[in-house]
Amino acid sequence: MIGVYGGTFDPVHYGHLRTALEIKETVQLDEVRFLPCRQPPHRQAPQASPEQRYRMLELALIDSEPGFSIDSRELLRPGPSYMVDTLGSLRAENGQTPICLIVGMDAFRGLPAWHRWTDLFELAHFIVMQRPGNDCALSAPLAAKVVPRLTDNARSLQDGAAGQVLLQEVIQLDVSATRLRQALQSGRSARYLTPDTVLAYIRREGLYRSA
Ligand code: ATP
Repeated sequence: MIGVYGGTFDPVHYGHLRTALEIKETVQLDEVRFLPCRQPPHRQAPQASPEQRYRMLELALIDSEPGFSIDSRELLRPGPSYMVDTLGSLRAENGQTPICLIVGMDAFRGLPAWHRWTDLFELAHFIVMQRPGNDCALSAPLAAKVVPRLTDNARSLQDGAAGQVLLQEVIQLDVSATRLRQALQSGRSARYLTPDTVLAYIRREGLYRSA
């Protein structure tokens, strides 16, 4: 089973790395691909360039878990990064292998704003992580789509290529890229929020000094 962990990664932090590891273990994924988006359609442009965000992911994954990798397809594709296009190309490459899109509850609740969002359920399973402070209430259109697809059995994701939704508890690490950037902007330390190799790169590149 392939896990796909999409995000802006501006920058990658321990909240991403730890939850990816937990999901890989609990759901028994063979691999987790971190998939940085080039141009997020629903939020402000990232501060770091696509190349810088990719490099920070590379640094964070040096000597990391076997099975962790970076998928650069969204960075290489011009224009907005629509997940439906990304999953379509992953599906074309991987036949009927189960593909699991890993998202935080915050991102999942915003799903109805994603381009062709109902098609996503034909292309992948969803693994939804509960994140500190997140509200779990789903809007009516999202609940209508999700409730019949809910499973609490991680093993059942192996039974089909796509279409189920697993709500997965993960350790509550209240780390976000926003808070990390804010710490750096105000001259505070961001140590232990992300690997030292990533922090050294941020310093070298002069990233996140201003809002
Ligand atoms: P920002 O603060 O800039 O919005 P972020 O920390 O949320 O960034 P993203 O790259 O936007 O990081 O997140 C990618 C995915 O990782 C999203 O699905 C998000 O919910 C999830 N995620 C990020 N941090 C955590 C965390 N601490 N615990 C669980 N999930 C997380």
